[in-house]
Amino acid sequence: MKPSTVASRPRGTEDVLPEAAVSWRRVERIAADIAARYGFGEIRTPSFEYSELVHHVGETTDVVQKETYDFTDRGGRALTLRPEGTAPVVRACLEGGLFARGFPVKVYYVTLSAFRYERPQAGRLREHHQFGCEVFGAPGPAADAELMALMAAFLAEAGIRRASARLNSIGCPACRPAYREALVGYYASRADALCGDCRRRLEQNPLRLLDCKVDRDAALGAPHALDHLCADCSAHLAELRALLEAAGVPYSIDHLLVRGFDYYTRTVFEFVHGGIGAQAALGGGGRYDGLVEALGGPPTPAAGFALGLERLLLALEQEGAVAEPDAPCQLFVAGPAARALPLALEARRAGLRADFDPLGRSLKAQFRHADRLGARFVAVPEAGGGPAVTLRDMEAKTQQEVVHDALVSAVRGALAARGG
Ligand SMILES: [Zn+2]
Ligand SMILES: [Zn+2]
Repeated sequence: MKPSTVASRPRGTEDVLPEAAVSWRRVERIAADIAARYGFGEIRTPSFEYSELVHHVGETTDVVQKETYDFTDRGGRALTLRPEGTAPVVRACLEGGLFARGFPVKVYYVTLSAFRYERPQAGRLREHHQFGCEVFGAPGPAADAELMALMAAFLAEAGIRRASARLNSIGCPACRPAYREALVGYYASRADALCGDCRRRLEQNPLRLLDCKVDRDAALGAPHALDHLCADCSAHLAELRALLEAAGVPYSIDHLLVRGFDYYTRTVFEFVHGGIGAQAALGGGGRYDGLVEALGGPPTPAAGFALGLERLLLALEQEGAVAEPDAPCQLFVAGPAARALPLALEARRAGLRADFDPLGRSLKAQFRHADRLGARFVAVPEAGGGPAVTLRDMEAKTQQEVVHDALVSAVRGALAARGG
């Protein structure tokens, strides 16, 4: 029988229920907090863009060739759900005139939804979410170093202990053609043994041969990009390594590290986690000095990273890092809604986490409900509309009589006295 498409979510998507949402809020808060400390301003862009923008920047990448959600809207416009954040952010910065205000421009996004039509697996969904940072206008390696330091600090604050950084340089338009040629020369004699994707990459995007999971052995013997860098690219990398050393950001050189997008230049980096299995990358980034110009802007150096939040949450689970559950109810006001609701509202206005029973159940059932909520105090207004309220401390199992007007201050006083 066909599964119901009314009662199930689309393949490759996830719901976040209240118990899981606390973990999301926690990492979102840490991301926004750390980005602000590093001097980044938040940017939000639409979930879909004109297809031309998305396809313009990555004609030879797998994501853009096979994995985008493209559709035509009712007005006949060709649109694409964004597969990543960088190109839309560049578009938004250009359109919003941010680059005209002086450099550097530093922006971040958190919980940016990204859409890729691929086979769903652990931590890789068709709709997933990213935290990312971009720096525009800084040509030197200080921006690269700052971004790697930020990513390391974020992972550490989130509670990831088993993460490590990998670094490589893929050169620039001056030196990459020679490296590309060296790669093609190396792989051409082995083409028959390569997977179908790689035979196609050999023509279109030979750098991507290096991160093929199938042809790993062939990649291990391939020429290194670092041996083909021009003097400027070598100096950039040497200075970046010195800065990382000075900043105390540990990393290792990974000759097989390349990025999936064509606009990357020089620096590429990735943070990997020991616990997620084959899909070990938490996220990564690098420099993409050619992108702004490719999108119609003035030549503008740029660097950035993006990190998958679903994968991060998986890694945090494996590390045993758990988020604090939502704080329980502090005051439950029992009784008929006509008395309980105004009292609960008053307590909420005063800043207490307060609740009542909207179902109008018996007092006994309401006490059971208060227990389920973990309510610290239960208030029972006296019957007949009088001013007395019985306030029961559910933990100490004691109770006292207070007048209606003194309820909130009585609860506050009791919570303060017990550190609650
Ligand atoms: Zn170069
Ligand atoms: Zn391959």
